[in-house]
Amino acid sequence: MEQPVIALVGRPNVGKSTLFNRLTRTRDALVADFPGLTRDRQYGVGRVGPLPYVVVDTGGLGEPDDVTYHHMQRQAIRALDEADAILFLVDARVGVTPGDETLTAELRQRGKRVWLVMNKVDGVDPDLAAADFHGLGLDAPWPIAAVHGRGVTRLMTAVLEDLTGGSVDPQALMPDPDAESGMTDETVSDHSTPRSIEVAIIGRPNVGKSTLVNRLIGEERVLVYDMPGTTRDAIRVPFERDGQAFTLVDTAGVRRRSRVRESIEKFSVVKTLQAIEAAQVVIMVLDARQEISEQDAHLIGHVIESGRGLVLAVNKWDGLAPDARERIRRELDVKLGFLDFARPRFISALHGTGVGRLLEEVAHVYRAARRELPTSALNRVLEEAVEAHQPPIVRGRRIKLRYAHQGGQNPPTIVVHGNQTGELPGAYRRYLVNRFRRAFGLQGTPIRLELRTGE
Ligand code: GDP
Ligand code: GDP
Repeated sequence: MEQPVIALVGRPNVGKSTLFNRLTRTRDALVADFPGLTRDRQYGVGRVGPLPYVVVDTGGLGEPDDVTYHHMQRQAIRALDEADAILFLVDARVGVTPGDETLTAELRQRGKRVWLVMNKVDGVDPDLAAADFHGLGLDAPWPIAAVHGRGVTRLMTAVLEDLTGGSVDPQALMPDPDAESGMTDETVSDHSTPRSIEVAIIGRPNVGKSTLVNRLIGEERVLVYDMPGTTRDAIRVPFERDGQAFTLVDTAGVRRRSRVRESIEKFSVVKTLQAIEAAQVVIMVLDARQEISEQDAHLIGHVIESGRGLVLAVNKWDGLAPDARERIRRELDVKLGFLDFARPRFISALHGTGVGRLLEEVAHVYRAARRELPTSALNRVLEEAVEAHQPPIVRGRRIKLRYAHQGGQNPPTIVVHGNQTGELPGAYRRYLVNRFRRAFGLQGTPIRLELRTGE
């Protein structure tokens, strides 16, 4: 089963973006280390325990004088159609408004499970406030205070339990059980024969995803997997290359005939997020003949947030004039320079040029993300880094970085202990991460740096 999709709906100011941030923010840490990257404020991934779910903030819904379904923004409608459950937010302090009533009517028509969520219950009597919302004819409201997080875990647990049939084995929803625990199959089995690597291919419409999928698994198999009715199931297509097993997961290109084009209109961020969650390594495809867009940066941001390995494929390299090649190289530098850990691979999906090397890179990234980093080596790198470049002095005292150990794998997590580590500037954190990356050859995977203070 794919990660369920939960849409946040409600009038402006009821607290949708506050709740969205609370649900998705545990994944901020990695993104914060990439100054060029802004968060996608509409789409994100949250978790209840190990259960991932996709959250969509339909922000555009229900402007004060524009509350009807017919005026809903297209993306917002799309989000409702894609959603498995809808959280309908209302404001406990304001009580029922005409806008809430209109939205209730519109939501009812969609036939989806709607959870009435009464936000801002901090400082009000929840029972009294709830009475006001009975008139909407929905189930009793779930009281929360999104700013403080009150009631949020209880609500999300109930929603997820409902979506997964109540008694889920949490593992059943986990695409990659190692991702969280830091334990990998390889740590207990033979290192020389890694199991199949799960790969997702993402990118904007028309960059060449289907062409690449065809190149990897062959046209006939693409047709086989393009069956109506399979769209809600996670699709997994195994293939092999140079003795290494790969599995394509949830890839848009697998789902449709290559001649049916995915229109810009139909491009689904939700599907992309599900694919990223289901994968271990993500191939992000860019079109060498187009400019790198904000959307591209957002997609890359989602990969980094997820902690998955990333391989950048710059496609349609065939027949490009030298000045055009120079242009895209420069653009990669300027717009994606922050992505220094993922070297771009220039390919032609159409002719197959560079595709083999792309898969080698995928395998390399997969192994890097799971590498064991011996404590002694980590401490040597830390010591050398500090010697070469001392951390700054804050409030009259130099920040001290004392020792390091590995906190987890996939993505590699390095815990550094010291004094005043909370004051360590972003530039120094990035410097440290780069030293570790170079020392251990951790190309293609985000690195999580956790700073602890001993005082
Ligand atoms: P949106 O327009 O629905 O996305 O609403 P926002 O998330 O931007 O929130 C609107 C305002 O309500 C902001 O000033 C928030 O700080 C405030 N707010 C959100 N959640 C709560 C809450 O639980 N309690 C209180 N007191 N204020 C909240
Ligand atoms: P998708 O929407 O990302 O799946 O993109 P498609 O695979 O459908 O490709 C979009 C268009 O780009 C099609 O006309 C392809 O033939 C073309 N295309 C894909 N890869 C290449 C390539 O490597 N070189 C060139 N010149 N065209 C390509």
